[in-house]
Amino acid sequence: GLADVPLQITGLTKRYAKSADRYAVRDLSFRVEKGQVLGLLGPNGAGKTTTLRMLMGLITPDDGEIRVFGHAIKPGAPVLSRVGAFVEGAGFLPHLSGRENLELYWRATGRPAEDSHIEEALEIAGLGDALARAVRTYSQGMRQRLAIAQAMLGLPDLLILDEPTNGLDPPQIREMRDVMIRYAAGGRTVIVSSHLLAEVEQSCTDLVVMDRGRLVQAGPVAEITGAGDTLLVTTAEE
Ligand code: ATP
Repeated sequence: GLADVPLQITGLTKRYAKSADRYAVRDLSFRVEKGQVLGLLGPNGAGKTTTLRMLMGLITPDDGEIRVFGHAIKPGAPVLSRVGAFVEGAGFLPHLSGRENLELYWRATGRPAEDSHIEEALEIAGLGDALARAVRTYSQGMRQRLAIAQAMLGLPDLLILDEPTNGLDPPQIREMRDVMIRYAAGGRTVIVSSHLLAEVEQSCTDLVVMDRGRLVQAGPVAEITGAGDTLLVTTAEE
């Protein structure tokens, strides 16, 4: 049943100004199955962030329906503990260690300590010995992975990552790819946005390609990269 489907969206639509003829997201429908790593791909302004924020319950769609493990997502409704989210700009206390920051964060969520899986999340994030060091000594890539680790702390069944490779260099992008693959290996589901096919094609099982608010292609990554190279390259460089 729908309770086993990490995500199903139907007819999702959002305009930021009611008078605008431009839709940020228009009539978007797709479904994500358990164990998939879904890449949400598209050039700047395609509507990726708007879509992910609606999934997280941060903004209200004008129309359409979002179901996460069968639950209808509505702003203001309690956040499902089965969902973890990464958005850019997570702040950490610079003089505390990575581990201390995560422990503080977990306490602030009010969820029981035994629900956290700090060790496993840290292992997946691959931060190693750096965890004992103050966050002020971290590179951008390490901060980003600490933020991902934070989103993974309860080992949510669905992990949503909005442009986790933004601002990273190629080695850091490869590390991020490995983090996503390790995370999904546990039968968990990941949704990750990017504006570059090259950044996600090796970590994703499936793609949804958006342009100007609409879905333009969707399917297993092998099918899309074969047929859609030209489209992706031209739209990404516009
Ligand atoms: P990027 O890769 O640049 O983040 P994106 O694919 O995530 O792009 P969105 O940020 O969702 O795209 O933007 C979709 C459209 O909605 C764009 O035209 C954008 O200008 C517009 N938009 C986004 N946020 C707002 C806002 N808060 N108010 C008004 N318009 C917005």
